[in-house]
Amino acid sequence: MPDLVVRGGSLVTPSGVVRADLAVEDGCICAIAPEVGGASEEIDARGLTVLPGVIDVHLHFNQPGREDWEGAATGSRALAAGGGVAFFDMPLNSTPCTVGRAEFEAKRCALEKSSITDFGLWGGIVPGNRDALGELAECGAIGFKAFMADSGLPEFPRADDLTLFEGMREAARVNLPVAVHAESHEITQALARRAAEEGRRGVRDFLNSRPVLAEVEAIERAALLAREAGAKLHVVHISSGRGVAAALEARARGTDISIETCAHYLFFTEEDGERLGAVAKCTPPLRDACEQAALWDTVLAGQVDVVASDHSPAPPAMKRGDDFFRIWGGIAGAQCTLAVLLEAGFHARGLDLGRIAELTAAYPSRRFRLQGKGGLAVGNDADFVLVDLRGAYTVEESGLFQKHRSTPYMGARFRGAIRRTVLRGRGVFADGRIMNTDVGKMLRPASFPTSTTEGAGCII
Ligand code: ZN
Repeated sequence: MPDLVVRGGSLVTPSGVVRADLAVEDGCICAIAPEVGGASEEIDARGLTVLPGVIDVHLHFNQPGREDWEGAATGSRALAAGGGVAFFDMPLNSTPCTVGRAEFEAKRCALEKSSITDFGLWGGIVPGNRDALGELAECGAIGFKAFMADSGLPEFPRADDLTLFEGMREAARVNLPVAVHAESHEITQALARRAAEEGRRGVRDFLNSRPVLAEVEAIERAALLAREAGAKLHVVHISSGRGVAAALEARARGTDISIETCAHYLFFTEEDGERLGAVAKCTPPLRDACEQAALWDTVLAGQVDVVASDHSPAPPAMKRGDDFFRIWGGIAGAQCTLAVLLEAGFHARGLDLGRIAELTAAYPSRRFRLQGKGGLAVGNDADFVLVDLRGAYTVEESGLFQKHRSTPYMGARFRGAIRRTVLRGRGVFADGRIMNTDVGKMLRPASFPTSTTEGAGCII
């Protein structure tokens, strides 16, 4: 007898949407059929849609060391309330940053104690840590993140082109992807300096200092370096249709590239950013309506691979000030990724539910080689989210689980109420409340065969 049966939901499976029962045994999906037998626990899902649980490949919970910014305990609760079952934490803004074995192990221990969802850990590429990348792979890193522009944290310096290229060579050796924050340091710094010299410090001045050109140039350069290094490239938070086009052109030229955008670029424009101010500051910045429409076109055309949150909160004091350039950049939205795709995608633009499952679960699982994750299929982990597509709600402080209840989504109206999130067969969130809190575990790539043919030493 199964442990759990979900009855009569519309299941968004890899082969289409089917009305069926879903049975769970030992944390895995053991049957999907028109009618399965009884179980010790049953959930009535008639009228509800069942999607695979969200795997958020890009966020910052800042633990250990900066739990006053967020922490995995609160962050993973927010994620679960938004339909999330797993996240990949970036190597910053924890203290220390995840750039070596000891730092990785410290974060793993901290998150195993605090996260209520599963998690994976990104390692970092910074000048001087190339020899640590193999160790990070052994520890189970999901991939390596590098900044092509200033990260905002002096302890996580940007990777110059040679550091990035040599890091990519090492990443290729251990068969892990390299994620880049793709914005030109030269262009953004020079424009920021010019604005400072002219005393221009407002929102619009900041937006003008980070043009789409800076993103496109960096994507093209990263793609060239990755192709030369034989590395898999993951471009995080592409903010513009032209950025996606640049990544697609690189793929056509032979770069193994995955394309991520974030929910906030699909939901807010730069006009919203000017109205909302610091709470909506991020890099790359929000774009104008025309550029956002072009980005949506790429999502609807199936050209974007992943939608993540880039949840990056900070204490309220860091989100205030007269100088917009100095205010901390980062949008807190871990709870709203699926909500945006359902409201602005499914309801407003006809984005297919199967495509939403692909963007939030199936592709992340494939790209990062998670075993038994990312889809409603027999044998996979029973990770899913029950959604009432017609249920509408407004984002309010009382419904948020993140540490600081500050988000540009406050007051947003979403259709697609998340009724329940289930991780490996156990409910972690239901009817507005967190349930189990001892479920999360670390995920690692299924295997990382190490190439012995190419050395990681000096290559130029
Ligand atoms: Zn980020």
